[in-house]
Amino acid sequence: MSAPLLEVSNLQMHFPVREGLFLRARAFNRAVDGVSFTINPGETLGLVGESGCGKSTLGRCITRLYTPTGGSIRFAGQDITHMRPRTLRPLRQDIQMIFQDPMESLNARHTVGDILEEPFIVHRIGDRIWRRKRVAELLNIVGLPARSATRFPFEFSGGQRQRIGIARAIALNPRLVICDEPVSALDVSIQSQILNLLVDLQREFNLAYLFIAHDLAVVKHVSDRVAIMYLGKIVETAPSETLYREASHPYTQSLIAAIPVPDPHRRAAREVLRGDVPSPINPPQGCSFHPRCPRAEPQCSEAEPELAPLTGAHAAACHLLARSG
Ligand code: SF4
Repeated sequence: MSAPLLEVSNLQMHFPVREGLFLRARAFNRAVDGVSFTINPGETLGLVGESGCGKSTLGRCITRLYTPTGGSIRFAGQDITHMRPRTLRPLRQDIQMIFQDPMESLNARHTVGDILEEPFIVHRIGDRIWRRKRVAELLNIVGLPARSATRFPFEFSGGQRQRIGIARAIALNPRLVICDEPVSALDVSIQSQILNLLVDLQREFNLAYLFIAHDLAVVKHVSDRVAIMYLGKIVETAPSETLYREASHPYTQSLIAAIPVPDPHRRAAREVLRGDVPSPINPPQGCSFHPRCPRAEPQCSEAEPELAPLTGAHAAACHLLARSG
């Protein structure tokens, strides 16, 4: 097996919460709190959790939009955790990001041609004629006509704008793309078109994806492995098929139960997740899921469970599973 392209070890991103006249840090928002995983070349890891669980912050740490406060990130064998911007610059070509709302991430005052040409200008690649030719190629790759280059983002539909966002992300031939909720803002009919496009691009260019989503149903179709995140930590991880067939952590089971099913009898039998994700500034003691867990026991509010292997590459952090294993 090839060496991992990305190795994330015990990563932490704690934001200080400042208060008072001197803006002293009174507390810390533990958005990411000890996360470890790897992604191999050409592989997709789905990262799933509710809004506020830290998954987008984790994506921004990997692209180094944030500098982590603990742990390490190795990309293609190099430690990039605290790499200076200048040293990081060539590597930025290799790690790109697709955002949830392409309208926010595309400069509304620039034409699509200018938007797609910009990464080449920033990295001093090609002359103007070469760049314009490459822009036409990129539009073709994502299924848009070359004449789109002269138009502005607001002239496109949501799905077309996401295609432009994808074209920009792949412009520099990256090896890893962080897809941060790339279809959440789109109609269901358009979602599958964008997912198919991402899968096709992965096959053609051997891209690795970290696919971030709050919806397990979306992730199922694109991921080789899935990691479930809750309040800054990974609570279960498994190959995609295993996770959907044998979800073991009560939180994962709740997320699977939340996937819409057409059968009303099955719908009634499913356990629905109660309450909201607690604040990462003051997380619950012990297992952070215990205030919402239907299977919580006294021990759960006292000791934090470790992410422990179950079978093969399947692991979960739950006292009940550790006991039965
Ligand atoms: Fe639920 Fe306890 Fe397992 Fe946490 S450790 S998921 S509270 S049973």
